[in-house]
Amino acid sequence: MSTIKTAKGVLYELNKAGYEAFIVGGAVRDHLLNMEVNDVDITTNARPYQVAEIFRTVPTGLKYGTVTVLYKDEQFEVTTYREDGTYLDGRRPEKIEYSDSVEDDVKRRDFTINGLLMTEKSEIIDYVGGRDDLQYKMIRTIGNPEERFNEDALRMLRAFYFQAKLGFQIDKQTREAIQNNRKKIHLVSDERILNELLKTLSGPHLKKAFKSMVTTTFHEELPGLKKGIEAVLEMDEMPYTDVFFTLCFALNDGIIPSEWKFSNKHRHRYAQAAKLANSGPKYDAYELYTYGLELSLLANRVNYQLGREKLMRGQIEERYEKIPLQSELDLKLRASEMIALTKKKAGAWVKDIQQQMILKILKNELKNDKESLTTFLMEQVK
Ligand code: ATP
Ligand code: MG
Repeated sequence: MSTIKTAKGVLYELNKAGYEAFIVGGAVRDHLLNMEVNDVDITTNARPYQVAEIFRTVPTGLKYGTVTVLYKDEQFEVTTYREDGTYLDGRRPEKIEYSDSVEDDVKRRDFTINGLLMTEKSEIIDYVGGRDDLQYKMIRTIGNPEERFNEDALRMLRAFYFQAKLGFQIDKQTREAIQNNRKKIHLVSDERILNELLKTLSGPHLKKAFKSMVTTTFHEELPGLKKGIEAVLEMDEMPYTDVFFTLCFALNDGIIPSEWKFSNKHRHRYAQAAKLANSGPKYDAYELYTYGLELSLLANRVNYQLGREKLMRGQIEERYEKIPLQSELDLKLRASEMIALTKKKAGAWVKDIQQQMILKILKNELKNDKESLTTFLMEQVK
């Protein structure tokens, strides 16, 4: 976390030591929009080692000329002026080059609204027409969009992210360049794409971003999400992240393309909930036991958003409360007792019989008490 006010102290110290320094990027943009500022980035002609002579620092991105400055209980990413000459076709720069000119540094940045500078005295310096674009609510690349997307294709997705965050329009030329270059997004690493998409999904103007993705057909390049995004565009209410992915994969025949580097937990959650949603769920005791409450609610929410048959959330919660058992640990006959009673060696048969018991209990064909379970057990091993 960091604030503009404290950042000015950092600028002051850098200026005092004889360096140029400015607040740059998102913080200036959000400040001018009267929006909450979360992280303040600073750009300076001081080299990282020179910054480290003045402040307590952590070398968080030396490869990119960035150090994190710890100042008055806040953190600032301080980056030395750069011009990113050499790009590895469509990806991040192979190596960075320092520059002595802040104008170079601004011009390597992605969008005009992200290229504004603020001095220690709160003056705004604008080399790229960012102020006008803020006023006209326009997302426009700095320089030729074709070239800028060829340097780093992730910028296309970033255009949608800023649209979802700010509700701005994407300038026509920039939009057309996205349409022309959309397939280059595959040059970008899976992790960077997912990261930027997740940011996009939490934006308050998400629907606008989806609309632009469809207009530019960019959404076709997001594996497995095409049908989902098109379906969501018909909805009044935008889904939360988990609902969005589950809904997309449900419409993608339950398939989660391997490009999406979710955690195992999330992948499993989306796969299971998509399967349940597509199965015409009844949310009976057996399903609630098998999938658990959370996945059942997720599947139900997806079907609600898709206009399919659904229950009220409270109904599912109530039914879940009433299911006779929620895990095998709730069986009134323990595994050790089963082994003692039958005098058989422990083995896979225990789990097997437990599963049969659970199924019968859930179907109300067997009571979950010691006596009934013992009788059932002895019949099975006879
Ligand atoms: P927010 O923090 O609200 O997501 P931001 O503008 O601060 O927005 P960051 O991703 O934090 O965005 O990046 C900080 C700044 O670095 C941007 O404002 C932009 O100037 C520059 N930047 C980031 N990513 C790129 C990129 N891929 N190409 C060019 N410039 C970039
Ligand atoms: Mg930022």
